[in-house]
Amino acid sequence: TSYGFRQVGDGEKQDLVNDVFHKVAKRYDIMNDVMSGGLHRVWKDAMIAALNPRKDPSYKVLDVAGGTGDIAFRIIEASDRLAHATVLDINGSMLGVGAERAEKKGLTENLTFVEANAESLPFDANSFDAYTIAFGIRNVPRIDVALAEAYRVLKRGGRLLVLEFSEVDLPLLDKVYDAWSFNAIPRLGKMITGDAEPYQYLVESIRKFPNQENFATMIRKAGFSNVKFTNYSGGIAALHSGWKL
Ligand code: SAM
Repeated sequence: TSYGFRQVGDGEKQDLVNDVFHKVAKRYDIMNDVMSGGLHRVWKDAMIAALNPRKDPSYKVLDVAGGTGDIAFRIIEASDRLAHATVLDINGSMLGVGAERAEKKGLTENLTFVEANAESLPFDANSFDAYTIAFGIRNVPRIDVALAEAYRVLKRGGRLLVLEFSEVDLPLLDKVYDAWSFNAIPRLGKMITGDAEPYQYLVESIRKFPNQENFATMIRKAGFSNVKFTNYSGGIAALHSGWKL
């Protein structure tokens, strides 16, 4: 049975997502490298370069769906270990792996880990200089609610950056990518974690996510200004950016 071919309600979708990430938490980082051929590192580095975090202890970033900490760690390093990042995730298993990694890297002072839902952020309005979310928003059942929450917690002048899988816009690449994602990824997932189903779900969730233009429209509807996107690797991933002005 495959998750994505059923119609599921919002609550049920979140349960499925939670189940997936509880199962994969320990192997999540290695699977990222295997499934993207290491490309996720390049995309994440590009995202941090676009953010260009301030080298300033008062600079506060909220990294939502932060999982095992990849984005937050990069932000802290790029700020010369001055900025502060709050890593928020709905899944305690992912945060647990992240907290362990943070300890090893000596980054705990710059980080706070928070278990919460992107649809209901436990923070005051106007609290953060930047809101980042990488490969997370497509898992959130109500994307419009998550974007409204992003807008609320950002300060005026704050920046939204969303890195997500998107629509491939190169004619040959899309064929290769389809073969890779529909066949290879679930199989690799099974080889490495013993379970193909979580990866099946992930691949299907990518297909259902709005394309570059449609997602940009959703971000504008949430109130953001100067919304733009940049494709990475022919649109396999895209970085959307917006400002709360
Ligand atoms: N940002 C990390 C990265 O790029 O490596 C992790 C991305 S991982 C593919 C997606 C994460 O989204 C998981 O850790 C999952 O628990 C989290 N997530 C799913 N639904 C969420 C929600 N409603 N609120 C917050 N986090 C959520």
